[in-house]
Amino acid sequence: MSTILAIDQGTTSSRAILFDGLRPIFKAQHEFPQIYPKSGWVEHDPFQITESQLLCIKEVLDLVGKANVDAIGITNQRETVVVWDRLTGLPVYNAIVWQCRRTADFCEELKSTRYADIIKEKTGLPIDPYFSASKIRWILENVEGAREKAEKGRLLFGTVDSWLIWNLTSGEVHATDVTNASRTQLFNINTMEWDEELLTLFDIPHSMMPKVLSSADDYGVAKIFGREIPICGVAGDQQSALFGQSCFNTGDCKNTYGTGAFLLTNIGKKPIFDKNGLITTVAWRLGEEVTYALEGSVFCAGSVIQWLRDSLGIISSSAESEFLAKSVEDNGGVYIVPAFTGLGAPYWDSEARGLICGLTRGSTKAHIARAALESIAFQVNELVELCRDAGITIERLCVDGGAAENNFLLKFQSDISKVDIIRKRSVEATARGAAMFAELGASGEISAQDDGDSIYFKPTMDQHERDELLSGWKNAVERTLS
Ligand code: ADP
Repeated sequence: MSTILAIDQGTTSSRAILFDGLRPIFKAQHEFPQIYPKSGWVEHDPFQITESQLLCIKEVLDLVGKANVDAIGITNQRETVVVWDRLTGLPVYNAIVWQCRRTADFCEELKSTRYADIIKEKTGLPIDPYFSASKIRWILENVEGAREKAEKGRLLFGTVDSWLIWNLTSGEVHATDVTNASRTQLFNINTMEWDEELLTLFDIPHSMMPKVLSSADDYGVAKIFGREIPICGVAGDQQSALFGQSCFNTGDCKNTYGTGAFLLTNIGKKPIFDKNGLITTVAWRLGEEVTYALEGSVFCAGSVIQWLRDSLGIISSSAESEFLAKSVEDNGGVYIVPAFTGLGAPYWDSEARGLICGLTRGSTKAHIARAALESIAFQVNELVELCRDAGITIERLCVDGGAAENNFLLKFQSDISKVDIIRKRSVEATARGAAMFAELGASGEISAQDDGDSIYFKPTMDQHERDELLSGWKNAVERTLS
């Protein structure tokens, strides 16, 4: 059994968790600032990412004392783009975050060309500002001197895993893993290589791209706080959660309720290309064997609860939303569509904007809190329906992520989607997946350890009530589409 330090670099916070086998023993977490320069734009300061992450690592290593740490596993927010100078290590611009819609116009134009089908067939992804390619292009086009430097081979691109690996190894390793690569829209998931035609289309020099490694692999040695620890596993957060939930078999499915919500289903060794809005993505590669997943994405899930807390001020903590929602019998006809940055699957509408509807003089903040939680479940339900349309039977859903702490949300999800929901005692599946990949990379095996009791939520809502709620939601969504 190995001791693994899992680094979990999320959208709103950085975390470090020490695993003894699969059991989390120490944890540190620090939030860092979100930067919103314009409507629909989202950035992070790359140094605030590394500083908050190093602070977490330091706090955990201080608790570890003299004990050995065998390996590091990294999991991270995906698609977010950092471009930096290979000589100075300095970023040329802030990190452009996955939620950022600044390239919506460019993507809209591209959608009407023959490339829409080519990109989907090669990368498994629809054209959308969400993915890295158009964001890298934006930096090269808009940051003074960037294009010239990139052409001369001075600039490096990385998703957040690459940025962390580069910094942890003091600039010795410029690498990413197959799962993060599969979210850039520049990686061919059939050949498992950077795609020259797409690099040309987005006007991105190949010299910027990191080396692509497997999920459990040799990512160099982190030299931090007087220790040298090999980095042996890397995966994007959602793929890491799929692995961390032990969804090893075809048909196994998980949903993570974080800032966004992400439903991933293991589809085995061959990619399936869905026509209705689900993404095909690499789940992991172990040795040379690739496993694929179908993924549905919701951009705003837990973030609608953050909005109630930070912008409307109607709750003082995210957890309070549960008590408020349960304090009323139903949503009172109120629906919220949190399309703050557009809508993901099945709409892929980057111009859609949010709304609250169905307000009456009797509506209270409790109805609003309830409608906000219900909106998360309605959106996830649309992903479940898409999977069902693609021929995948979903009867049980493993859940994790910050908002999976919310019992009201999970019960409502179970009712609205007619699925059994399973929540493990520890909702840290993302970090656990990274620890599992790293342990595999370091020792060739994964410790078999039980993660503790699971809690089940079972559907009990009658069909009439479900139909009414679903039609209320559909009506609200239609009003937000562009
Ligand atoms: P990420 O990794 O995307 O930063 P997390 O998995 O840490 O996100 O989840 C944080 C999100 O979950 C926040 O948007 C927060 O509002 C939401 N959240 C946390 N606890 C609860 C809760 N008890 N009920 C509802 N939402 C919650």
